[in-house]
Amino acid sequence: MTPNTDLNIPLFERAKAVIPGGVNSPVRAFNAVGGTPRFVQRAEGAYFWDTNGQRFTDYIGSWGPMILGHGHPEVLAAVQQAALDGFSFGAPTEREVTLAEKLIELLPSMEMVRLVSSGTEATMSAMRLARGFTGRRKIIKFNGCYHGHSDALLVKAGSGLATFGNATSAGVTPEAVQDTLVLEYNDIDQLEEAFALYADDLACVMIEPIAGNMNFVRASVAFTRRIRELCTQHGALLVYDEVMTGFRVALGCAQAVYAKQIPGFAPDITVLGKVIGGGMPMAAFGARREIMEKLSPLGPVYQAGTLSGNPIATACGLKTLELISHAGFHEQLHRQTGRLMNGLSEAAHEAGLPFCADHEGGLFGFFFLPELPTTYAEVMRTDGQRFNKFYHGMLERGHYFAPALYEAGFVSAAHTDADIDRTVEAAREVFKTL
Ligand code: PMP
Repeated sequence: MTPNTDLNIPLFERAKAVIPGGVNSPVRAFNAVGGTPRFVQRAEGAYFWDTNGQRFTDYIGSWGPMILGHGHPEVLAAVQQAALDGFSFGAPTEREVTLAEKLIELLPSMEMVRLVSSGTEATMSAMRLARGFTGRRKIIKFNGCYHGHSDALLVKAGSGLATFGNATSAGVTPEAVQDTLVLEYNDIDQLEEAFALYADDLACVMIEPIAGNMNFVRASVAFTRRIRELCTQHGALLVYDEVMTGFRVALGCAQAVYAKQIPGFAPDITVLGKVIGGGMPMAAFGARREIMEKLSPLGPVYQAGTLSGNPIATACGLKTLELISHAGFHEQLHRQTGRLMNGLSEAAHEAGLPFCADHEGGLFGFFFLPELPTTYAEVMRTDGQRFNKFYHGMLERGHYFAPALYEAGFVSAAHTDADIDRTVEAAREVFKTL
């Protein structure tokens, strides 16, 4: 497509005049890879079509929620029916109760759950709850994990454990992040040191169990076990941010993946988003009863939302959860994602490129590195120019991956063998040009 005929270009110009950067969430602007973002016109199954009418095989799926693919007929019908019954009431509905019951049934670590409208809201509220429950101030997070954009969680590592983090955004005051300690992912020594220094004042450790915001990096089993032990020993809460991994890596979420390897393992608070709304604004946080009962109106920790438990979002989420609860759903999704990762790895190695990949359920990551990274610093050793060239080569051929090397990828149940094989063939061509 020449610049004269690409309708995304004038649309992006129009957007930039009225929306900062032309987008309503920064990564959509293609800043990391360069070029013009594709404006989506419509989507169906594993594909979306941009404003030029070009079809793309979609490996983002709205950054996770579209686990069934776009416009699944049963989900669509549930949403249409819910819309006819009313958009929002600001009063309780039966569907919220049914959704809460379903979430608790699927996640034994939760006895109660509160529904909110975004992952940011859910992690922020989980952090407040952890502080309210423990009566402590400090929190630990990990370098490379993203927990939404509330002030106290927008932090990068400080220069040492004695100093707390620095804000990663203008507009966040030093006071807002002074109790946030940022440690290296998978670093047991640092974790132990942090507990030795601050245990008595630690409200929680918040973690992405499989980090999807530094591409795809697993917390090691040893690291996970040690976090759990230290939290239990010192009375800090373990907060699992499963906004990305929740119901995507397994029906029991990432916590079930770890519980297979660490008998009895469970987090104290779980944060959910994305899949539980099936593409509508919906997120949640839940825990055992004694923790959740600290929330208003029962307890002193305030939390609220005009659109929380929205009737259309709950309909969309409930139907999505029902459809992915079928026996074998996640196993099939895992196999399908494996087909893509194995295909890409083979094609890259044929072209003589350093390449490695990992996946769990419908979440994947690949790296132009000889070995899987275990920390943010290792992820960032990826050759960015090579990634960007790969990215644009695939985009031109109609395969839409995340437009940044530090983002994960997503396969849905709508991706067929043929879709994946076409993507692998395109990659084979592109790898030869790198
Ligand atoms: N936590 C994690 C792990 C996420 O991946 C995200 C968003 N990608 C969030 C929290 C924030 O969710 P939201 O964008 O819905 O605010």
